[in-house]
Amino acid sequence: MIKQQLVHEQPIAWQTLCHALKNNQLAHAYLFHGPKGTSKLECAMLVAQSLVCPNKDEHGFACEECEECKRIAHHQFADLIYLDGSETSIKKENILKLQHEFAKTGLEHTGHKIYVVNQAENATTEALNALLKFLEEPSSTQMTAILICDQMDRLLPTIVSRCQLIPFRPLSSAQCYERCKNEMNPLDAYLLSGMIHHPQEMLAVAESDEYQHAFYLFENFTKAFSQSPYYGLDLLLKAGTERKKADGKLWMRYFLEMLMVFYRDLMKGTGNHDNAWYQSMLDMYRMKHIRYDQMLEILLTTRDKLWKSVNLTLLCDQMVYQMKEALG
Ligand SMILES: [Zn+2]
Repeated sequence: MIKQQLVHEQPIAWQTLCHALKNNQLAHAYLFHGPKGTSKLECAMLVAQSLVCPNKDEHGFACEECEECKRIAHHQFADLIYLDGSETSIKKENILKLQHEFAKTGLEHTGHKIYVVNQAENATTEALNALLKFLEEPSSTQMTAILICDQMDRLLPTIVSRCQLIPFRPLSSAQCYERCKNEMNPLDAYLLSGMIHHPQEMLAVAESDEYQHAFYLFENFTKAFSQSPYYGLDLLLKAGTERKKADGKLWMRYFLEMLMVFYRDLMKGTGNHDNAWYQSMLDMYRMKHIRYDQMLEILLTTRDKLWKSVNLTLLCDQMVYQMKEALG
């Protein structure tokens, strides 16, 4: 599964690692960098599996199914050290302790030890320095470290320069949609793929109360607004008073972003043909004279003002008034 994903979504990472694994030329240290949701950790675990798997494929990658692969996936392999900066910050002491234990035994006798450091931006510079120094020392055991980070600029250049860089590129909306459409309502997957470029986050947001509320509003607003901007405003204000401040205006942001996906589709002539309701709405709006670019501008400005504005009613009022103007 992860292998197919990498081939399609991260061809640079795939080809670089494939070449290294096939020729047994792994670097001491890699830095997998790129935005959240780009399978960097999954790829690091695949590399770890590929070093021990007895049933490798023709590209040099692990089978993902054998006993060894499963143990790596469940973090039950003694020659794999996994450090997760997303839970706690990683300090030099942690690294030194691990190195000490590592040096004592090679429990699995695979001849290759691997460190995976997730969210390396949350490790101290001393910790990363200690790790890299250890890897660069000549030793009888082969060792590889994979550092993973979302933001490379949060690591010191002296650390970055000692690693081979593997860039993970952001997923496109279409790739996010493909990944999520079978795991949630396809229309939700479509809208969310235009709002959030991160499959796991899309799944979490789709189930949230704020999103459900925004979607309910989106469905009703598009219909009401097409009849009269005032119907639309009415609906919006009612929805606003029903949801008090405790919701943190998040539902409003989702609602605005859904409308942006909708107006972008109108402007570009694209859509989601799997959903009859959505397509019929697009068709209906396309018959009107609407300045799509102006609509998008209004939605964008409203979203930017959302967190600064204390009066949501006034903001909605202004937005719908401006949208009415853009109807031409
Ligand atoms: Zn395997």
